[in-house]
Amino acid sequence: MKATGKDYDFLIVGSGLYGATFAHMATKAGKKCLVIDKRKHKGGNVYCTDIDGINVHTYGAHIFHTNDQHIWDFVNSFVPFNRFTNSPVSISKGKLYNLPFNMNTFYQLWNVTTPEQAKKKIEAQTAAHQYAQPANLEEQALKLVGDDVYNTLIKEYTEKQWGKKASELPAFIIKRLPLRFTFDNNYFTDKYQGIPIGGYNLLVDGLLEGIEVKLEQDFFTDRDYYFSIAEKIVYTGPIDAFYNNCFGALEYRSLEFKHEVLPQENFQGNAVVNYNDATVPYTRIIEHKHFEFGTQAHTVITYEYPKTWKPGMESYYPINDEMNMRRFKEYETLANNETNVIFGGRMAEYRYYDMHQVIGSALAKTGRLFPDLSL
Ligand code: FAD
Ligand code: UDP
Repeated sequence: MKATGKDYDFLIVGSGLYGATFAHMATKAGKKCLVIDKRKHKGGNVYCTDIDGINVHTYGAHIFHTNDQHIWDFVNSFVPFNRFTNSPVSISKGKLYNLPFNMNTFYQLWNVTTPEQAKKKIEAQTAAHQYAQPANLEEQALKLVGDDVYNTLIKEYTEKQWGKKASELPAFIIKRLPLRFTFDNNYFTDKYQGIPIGGYNLLVDGLLEGIEVKLEQDFFTDRDYYFSIAEKIVYTGPIDAFYNNCFGALEYRSLEFKHEVLPQENFQGNAVVNYNDATVPYTRIIEHKHFEFGTQAHTVITYEYPKTWKPGMESYYPINDEMNMRRFKEYETLANNETNVIFGGRMAEYRYYDMHQVIGSALAKTGRLFPDLSL
């Protein structure tokens, strides 16, 4: 029940993991929430479509991973997670390599079989690239793994993914990938990893249980109305759009997904296969049944094509280079001065957040707003 004059305590723009987590915690704290989303469904980019009994990750492969016990327990309280471990492979010039960069990859590249031999190879190749402060992704990658790994598995994939030269991209992006000298193909180093059993929609439904949600409602079609019905707005869309691009548009990377149902049991033998070569227009093919160890007689695959973002398209990745970060800081200053708008999530915070980080950000925010609330 609301104490103040307006209909809602919080109007939450976006039903992705930030909006859904925020709404859940605020409701638990006794606040009245309305969640709106411009899409036809809840869940933002983790939304799954059931195609012939297979949970298809509509907006690309989503593997949950975290080191944070608290976040792991939180998500598992809505839906149990399976023990899926992401171990993608990459195809480069017709040859297949294991990811992330590990002893299997080094064997495939150089025929080396011991960590000592692999380290010697890497040391010889990185010697010429010992930049004190790598200025960009290319320098960072060369410093870390040297020329062969860079040229075989990083350069073309990266430039295709981002539509920019690796020498123009921020160094931190490549630090997402582990480098290890064991025969371990686990893409992540986190303690916890998995896929919700039955798909991500169960997680989102659990978070939003009992909360009013209105779909196909674009905040910008009537922002005055939305401000009039709630004490505070929680905004999870792109931050520059909120301010009518007043400092200029931020850059994003967009994607296109092409889904196919195939009348065969197993198309590629793995959930994720990356395609490094610039001549292949997609970056990866996802075979969804493998996320949940499916045994169906058919399969569903998705080709992921990177695209230049233009107004009207979905923005999937922030491009956190110097120019964009300078512009983002200007928007952030405006956002920090708002008294009745909260900005959260991958696009509103303009951060290359994974799911656990988005949930962590929403829990941190609600923890500060409702300090008496326990999970
Ligand atoms: P979103 O999920 O984008 O939700 C925002 C919502 O706001 C959307 O539903 C949108 O429609 C709505 N909205 C925006 N503007 C308006 C408006 N004006 N009016 C109404 N509604 C609006 N993370 C991992 O941890 N592991 C992975 O394996 C992984 N893989 C990924 C693969 C891809 C291809 C992508 C793009 C991301 C991946 N992520 C992964 C990241 C993950 O998707 C995000 O961290 C997380 O889903 C972001 O949640 P969010 O709530 O911030 O944003
Ligand atoms: N990357 C690469 N080769 C690969 C996979 C990833 O060079 O086969 C680089 C690329 O720059 C990519 C970054 O590592 O943008 C992060 O990859 P990740 O798989 O974490 O990206 P996401 O799933 O977020 O698209």
